[in-house]
Amino acid sequence: MAGFKNLDQELTPLHLPLSGGSIPPPLTRGGREGFGVGIIGGGYAGMAAAVALSERGIPVTVFESAQQLGGRARGVVHRDAQLDNGQHLLLGCYRQTLRLIEQVGGNLEQDFLRLPLQLDLHGKFSLRAPHLPAPLHLLVALLSARGLSFGARLNAARCMLALRRTNFLLPTDMTVAELLAQHGQDAELTQKLWEPLCIAALNTPLHKASAQVFLNVLRDAMNQSRADSDMLLPRVDFSALFPQRAASYVELRGGSVLTSCGVEKITPKDGGIELATAKNATTFSHVICAAPPAIAARLLRSTTALESVVTQIETLQHQPIYTVYLQYAPTVGLPYPMLGLYQRYSQWLFDKGQIAGQHGLLAAVISAEGIHQELPQEQLAQKVITELREEFGIADQPKWFKIIAEKHATFTCSPNLQRPSQQTALPGLLLAGDYTAGDYPATLEGAVLSGLRCANLILKL
Ligand SMILES: Cc1cc2nc3c(=O)[nH]c(=O)nc-3n(C[C@H](O)[C@H](O)[C@H](O)COP(=O)(O)OP(=O)(O)OC[C@H]3O[C@@H](n4cnc5c(N)ncnc54)[C@H](O)[C@@H]3O)c2cc1C
Repeated sequence: MAGFKNLDQELTPLHLPLSGGSIPPPLTRGGREGFGVGIIGGGYAGMAAAVALSERGIPVTVFESAQQLGGRARGVVHRDAQLDNGQHLLLGCYRQTLRLIEQVGGNLEQDFLRLPLQLDLHGKFSLRAPHLPAPLHLLVALLSARGLSFGARLNAARCMLALRRTNFLLPTDMTVAELLAQHGQDAELTQKLWEPLCIAALNTPLHKASAQVFLNVLRDAMNQSRADSDMLLPRVDFSALFPQRAASYVELRGGSVLTSCGVEKITPKDGGIELATAKNATTFSHVICAAPPAIAARLLRSTTALESVVTQIETLQHQPIYTVYLQYAPTVGLPYPMLGLYQRYSQWLFDKGQIAGQHGLLAAVISAEGIHQELPQEQLAQKVITELREEFGIADQPKWFKIIAEKHATFTCSPNLQRPSQQTALPGLLLAGDYTAGDYPATLEGAVLSGLRCANLILKL
């Protein structure tokens, strides 16, 4: 714990509650009072940082404004059905997220339905990775895919090999659409293979999406080990999967996780940083702001030294994700746990019966901007119901539907985007979150990596 020793030497005693209430008393380590890290936000980024610091004996206090943990990956209950705010998918290469889930007590075998890489656009295109080592599994999958001419499949395989030869690195960033044009990928190949992959990975349309970030995902998912491209569909809700378990882990190690306790103000004070909630103000030696970008910008705005990072955050644009849940009779299901539709409103369909034993519950996911945003919810649900009838002969009407529209689901992952660094101009204040600097688009792994980076920066001080 050499890093921790240095940290102990450099810090002045802080973490001083100014008034009583729900904030716990100062924590101690090695007889020394007043050392603590305040974390704003109990999403995947904030809870990853909290676990990493607690593991090293550092007292943390997590402030979460919502009643529950998880943020943009959280459980939602509707009419007694356990849903998520959106159907998420993890990849086998999300190593840090999967490692942390296990560290806080999860069991990957039980928590996920794990499927080998497959891309199925019902009746129009189908690609399945065979049991071969990477990247052979992908090349064989591309060459044997159904729904494209042999020439198009060969072209896709050639493109993948050419990208691999460059280590998935571009001399200059460009849009995914421009990259595909450079590699001579035709319209049908793009619509059946690259577009679904790009939207799933970056939640950004091809003509706006960063080719380099797309290649980062391909590099990590497709190129090293076969298991990296596995698709993991959670059987438990996203609050339960990691953040709630992480909270128990943190509390067992002396930390606190406070829900319904939003931070309203950040103020540099006495060499530390004061966090004010509606009830209390507490000063910490370090603060990790892991709130979503718009809230982070609002909290940082009052500190002059942080003007440029606020401007950087405010220039980020955002993309939506809509999830349409439909509860049918328990006998209704889909041919596979997950499959896509070609040129339909519903981009991806999930059969929660096959995934989590919630029979008759289907989820349709519509990612990124599009004409679906202009439809009233009733009409959008009706479009999905019609598509299910036309594609799978599901003639019943659902008992209910529920649309969860996350309008700021992710940042728009455009080329050459300058994302804020985890370190800020205010000593002791760090930024975590899927939007902060990193290789990945807005994903769970990106969020977790940013939280771990902040924890490491504190540990190494
Ligand atoms: C519908 C949907 C589907 C998605 N699908 C996928 C997927 O399949 N795979 C994937 O990898 N990623 C997916 N993502 C992206 C992924 O969910 C996010 O990248 C990730 O959850 C972001 O985590 P975060 O911790 O950075 O931010 P957040 O989850 O936004 O966490 C921030 C937390 O801060 C809290 N907060 C806000 N204000 C305050 C305050 N003043 N004080 C204290 N707390 C505050 C919020 O309540 C929240 O809990 C999806 C996102 C959405 C919305």
